[in-house]
Amino acid sequence: MEVRASVCPHDCPSTCALEVEVHDNARIGAVRGAADNDYTRGVICAKVARYAERVHHPDRLTQPLLRTGPRGSGQFRAITWDEALDRTAEALTQATARHGSESVWPFYYAGTMGLVQRDGINRLRHAMRYSRQKLTICTSICEAGWFAGVGGYRGPDPREMAKSDLIVIWGGNPVATQVNVMTHVTRARKERGAKLVVVDPYRSGTAAVADMHIMPRPGTDGALACALMHIAFRDGWADRAYMATHADCPEALEAHLAARGPEWAAAITGLPVAQIENFAALYGATKRSYIRLGYGFARSRNGAANMHAVTCLATVAGTWPHEGGGALWSNRGIYHWDKTLIEGLDVRDLSVRAMDMSRIGAVLTGDRTELGTGPEVHALLIQNQNPLAVCPDSNRVRRGFAREDLFVCTHEQFMTETARWSDIVLPATMFMEHDDLYQAGGHTYLQIGPKLIEPPGECRSNHAVICALAHRLGAKHPGFEMTEWEMIDATLRASGWPDAATVRARRWVDAAQPFAQAHFLDGFAHADKRFRFAPDWNALGPFGAAMPKLPDHFAIVDARTETHPFRMVTAPARQFLNTSFTEMPSGRARERRPTALIHPADADRLGIADGARMRLGNARGEVVLHARHFDGVQPGVLVVESVWPSEYYEGGIGINALTSDDPAPPAGGAVFHDTAVWARAEAAALAQAAE
Ligand code: SF4
Repeated sequence: MEVRASVCPHDCPSTCALEVEVHDNARIGAVRGAADNDYTRGVICAKVARYAERVHHPDRLTQPLLRTGPRGSGQFRAITWDEALDRTAEALTQATARHGSESVWPFYYAGTMGLVQRDGINRLRHAMRYSRQKLTICTSICEAGWFAGVGGYRGPDPREMAKSDLIVIWGGNPVATQVNVMTHVTRARKERGAKLVVVDPYRSGTAAVADMHIMPRPGTDGALACALMHIAFRDGWADRAYMATHADCPEALEAHLAARGPEWAAAITGLPVAQIENFAALYGATKRSYIRLGYGFARSRNGAANMHAVTCLATVAGTWPHEGGGALWSNRGIYHWDKTLIEGLDVRDLSVRAMDMSRIGAVLTGDRTELGTGPEVHALLIQNQNPLAVCPDSNRVRRGFAREDLFVCTHEQFMTETARWSDIVLPATMFMEHDDLYQAGGHTYLQIGPKLIEPPGECRSNHAVICALAHRLGAKHPGFEMTEWEMIDATLRASGWPDAATVRARRWVDAAQPFAQAHFLDGFAHADKRFRFAPDWNALGPFGAAMPKLPDHFAIVDARTETHPFRMVTAPARQFLNTSFTEMPSGRARERRPTALIHPADADRLGIADGARMRLGNARGEVVLHARHFDGVQPGVLVVESVWPSEYYEGGIGINALTSDDPAPPAGGAVFHDTAVWARAEAAALAQAAE
């Protein structure tokens, strides 16, 4: 047995440096966090610590498959790789010949975060002029909200949290989704007596261990941030000298906030005035306060406005210049990659149609707002994504996948819902079975994750499949002639980093910026170096015109009504990551079953017993799950931790049947936590259906 270095590839900002026990180049044993990486610090989440269960799972796909029964039936027969690739290339060629190249839509996201295996599909897309994909499902709302004020995707080093006196985790649950944040928070609490405040609409695992949990209604974070800034101006802790040199319009902001005090915010957020005042007093008294922004609170129609409002708070308080102070969403902008080879950016044509991935249901059912004047989509090539389970309005997605004139090839590790609805299924490697290159949003290291073991059966990497298809399709690009390792090496060199052999030998390279740059001492990342209280939302996306000029409560959420009296949040489950890990029995056992957290007062009023079946619904669909009485939400709020595959719900309809594919302004984005629903005891729902 040897212990070898690796990198976690999953869709998680921590991108942990790993140590993996390897047996005979064929099997892995225990997986641990690298103790000598000063961000990972030897800590990883439980689901990756058990990774051997996933790698050596008996249900791994190991052979190419051809559909033999009706779509979605799960009836397939094994075929050779040559036949699978020939059939796929033929289907893509036929779609192009009949309907034009834009009728083919390569579709991907973050099943792996490795740059080569994740993004190489774009090289084929651009070389063949297939439809482009707007990457909206996770980050586009956060991106806009953060960029609006700051002007770049970077911020104070997250390792500085250990030197903070106050850490505010706003709209995230790192205990479940980014465990290393808690390592640094714990150090700050132990060594400095730092306080932890969590802002989240439910008592998550992180909120449960906080010194103060602020629990606003979903989608009201902008109002809370405005009230905190109002108090800053009112009580004299607004840093006027800092704003005078580093912000665009502090006087206009102060005047605007005059009418947005704690009473105003209390009515919108449902928070007690006294709690808003207490939070403000703590924040205002602490210059070393670090706001760690999560993704969760941005998954709302007003998410970008809310994220911008929270970044404004750090600017009003003037915390950015202080060690352990400021705010961070992601450090993704510090790596200066040249991804020309990986993505084929030199053959990209921006006049080729781009469609919103979060609206794949609309695309596949002929919605012209996405298709424009171009052809309908007749062929999908899918890697690293499970759109039938994770994309919004999933009943509509399913109607799209049911089209008989649609060809679908999915390259996957397990028989996911999307794979089951495909014509061709190709078996994919996992991260320890191929080479790749990683950056992190949650820290500052770039790393190489080398191949450690041979894959099972006939599994092939994403890169291998893309190159093999390119050769059959006649696509030309140097990247199709390179190995993964050559691609990593060339990309590192082109981006100004050490070569691949050096990075592998060093295990990681720290891309952290100097303190002055990371803390914006020399100005923010806009051309005029000033933080923007009044951003140019129109410049950030096509839907920016309606957004508030200054931080505000942007009242465009899917509001509660008499017929839909609940606001539903689909927070991530601790044992799952999107739909990855749902195949592991140990994780499923811990999560038990799809469950809605409901306030006991709501449950009693509706006659829903603790543990009973209940039904949720809206105009898009209905799902059946089980209730858990939980006083860690405000009345009128439901939390469904997911993403469970649909087959675990009664009736086979998963939670995204209820979520909307409305694009969030200014640039689109999935609004997973912004859903009005009705809720009923299942018996009552059945009775009504029978009437
Ligand atoms: S915490 Fe995130 S990056 Fe680290 S091992 Fe778990 S999923 Fe991977």
